[in-house]
Amino acid sequence: QTEIPQTNTHTKRLTHLPPLLPPLLSSLTQTSPPPFFQSSQNKPITAAMPEAPKPTQTSNGLTTIAIAEKNKRTLQFIEDVTSNPDDVQTQVLHEILSRNSAVEYLHHRHRLHGATDRRTFKKLLPVISYEDIHPDITRIANGDTSPILCSSPISEFLTSSGTSAGERKLMPTIAEEMERRSLLYSLLMPVMSQFVPGLEKGKGMYFLFIKSESKTPGGLPARPVLTSYYKSSHFKNRPFDPYTNYTSPNETILCPDSYQSMYSQLLCGLCQRTQVLRVGAVFASGFIRAIRFLEKHWQLLCRDIRSGTLDPTVITDPAVREAVLTKVLHRPDPELADFVESECRKDSWQGIITRLWPNTKYVDVIVTGTMSQYIPTLDFYSNGLPLVCTMYASSECYFGVNLNPLCKPSEVAYTLIPTMAYFEFLPVHRNNNNGSLNEKERQELVDLADVKLGHEYELVVTTYAGLYRYRVGDVLRVAGFKNRAPQFNFICRKNVVLSIDSDKTDEVELQGAVKNAVDAHLVAFGGSVAEYTSYADTKTTIPGHYVLYWELSVKGTTAIPPSVYEDCCLTVEESLNSVYRQGRVSDKSIGPLEIKIVEQGTFDKLMDYAISLGASINQYKTPRCVKFEPIVELLNSRVEGSYFSPKCPKWVPGHKQWSNNVKN
Ligand code: AMP
Repeated sequence: QTEIPQTNTHTKRLTHLPPLLPPLLSSLTQTSPPPFFQSSQNKPITAAMPEAPKPTQTSNGLTTIAIAEKNKRTLQFIEDVTSNPDDVQTQVLHEILSRNSAVEYLHHRHRLHGATDRRTFKKLLPVISYEDIHPDITRIANGDTSPILCSSPISEFLTSSGTSAGERKLMPTIAEEMERRSLLYSLLMPVMSQFVPGLEKGKGMYFLFIKSESKTPGGLPARPVLTSYYKSSHFKNRPFDPYTNYTSPNETILCPDSYQSMYSQLLCGLCQRTQVLRVGAVFASGFIRAIRFLEKHWQLLCRDIRSGTLDPTVITDPAVREAVLTKVLHRPDPELADFVESECRKDSWQGIITRLWPNTKYVDVIVTGTMSQYIPTLDFYSNGLPLVCTMYASSECYFGVNLNPLCKPSEVAYTLIPTMAYFEFLPVHRNNNNGSLNEKERQELVDLADVKLGHEYELVVTTYAGLYRYRVGDVLRVAGFKNRAPQFNFICRKNVVLSIDSDKTDEVELQGAVKNAVDAHLVAFGGSVAEYTSYADTKTTIPGHYVLYWELSVKGTTAIPPSVYEDCCLTVEESLNSVYRQGRVSDKSIGPLEIKIVEQGTFDKLMDYAISLGASINQYKTPRCVKFEPIVELLNSRVEGSYFSPKCPKWVPGHKQWSNNVKN
């Protein structure tokens, strides 16, 4: 149990409260209760997460009784924190502010002077976006270790898929946050087990990957939150637990080569196919990528299964070789190879998941937000197995869980866990922008316990790791309540128009990229783009790709050769943010960008169509991104030429200004 550093006498008064740190994953062997409080008198909840039962070990884990008991306690924890969300939130804010009372941001810049109450906090602290703390982040990244945002040392930066000036945002984190993330993970399977019993009797086939990481000039690691998690001892050294018993040995997940990682994880999943009870990945796009990989490489995989060896030219990573050969691929299995081959050879891949992994009960992937575009593909491959979205999280903070995981994807609602951070909600108005809020708008922020059913809000968080009233950029709608805690539908990420994987491209970036391409290549031919729109095409290619529809206005007389349009494609890609380019270059999760030149008058037709559907002629603006199928069909029916990016754009790990220390 890690002790939380106490910063002042005010904090010391609270040391009788329950320890802050949660159990490891869903480990049944840990005894630490998570942090939360029962009442406004700050009395600890002693009943909510009682002592863990003495685990009754069996040869391969724990008895069903022990599992049921642990699940019961976890569910009781959820009951408790959702019954008094406001008290828990008061306490969380108090704790964050008292621990960090002396940090530069709170004490000197915003003159909080040790206050820990909501009123003073809301009065003195501005609601901010990343740009507001960018200078602080840069100081920390450059090696300033003074307490700028947080009294605990910043242990690393988590690189968000949200970008600022084309580069990943850097979210500060502290060592203890890992425990909070683990707490959220530990809630998932007890919730799931209420709806799908018996999951402890088999394995999960999850495709999990690490990404490359870099170091800031000051020497702090900068990497995605999941990479940080999988490389941590919380994940690597987790005690045996049937709920974190995966078909992929750790070494295959931790392999920096994404091809070898995917290959070995699929191989292990196939070898253990009858034990698999659930399959998944973090996002739907990642899971579909795995199926696509199987479509391309099943022959190689079958060859290894048949011979009981690993092709040394395919799997060169010694740790992966050793793990797969000693833990999974014990012997030649021609029968399994024949079976996999016969299934993969079939013309249709409909239901391939249930055919190859016949005991699968559900597909565990996020299909909310932009990932909903993958639902039809997942339904096809899984023959309509339930698609389960278990959690909602970010690099800033992990937020909440879905307490009704078998619901339809369109009805998924996440219950924010009030111990994770202090949450506020900015009502969404049409004119809300990303700029700073005026006094009146600041007054409008409401607390977790005060949001209204059916209303939409932008999420604002205050974290233990140094973010205060920070706008995450997600829009949520209140869908209902669990006890007194609200449950939210994820509506969208603000401003994002295009997304295939974890990339998020907004309208301004897209506009800039189109302009760069036109200036660099079309102007010389007297060409310009009169109108354009875009589409994230995840239907005709796997991985999906961005499509730009351009209607040109050409004054020159020389015909524009195809290579010029291809150059335009590449320039657009080069101009997009680093997460997009990483998806193209390193993750291979995004296909080459396509420009489709459409006939003159196409965008007039688009307007006519929108007006026929009820749009106002005066207010009509060309949408910069289209999703509605009939509109995409209209555009596609008028394409005169189609061009793809001829190669990958440039991308290097880390921020472009750090040339140092890139490692896997
Ligand atoms: P990152 O900062 O890269 O960790 O990405 C976090 C963002 O991913 C969130 O702020 C959301 O926009 C999105 N996200 C995370 N979980 C979900 C979910 N369950 N459903 C929809 N979007 C999600």
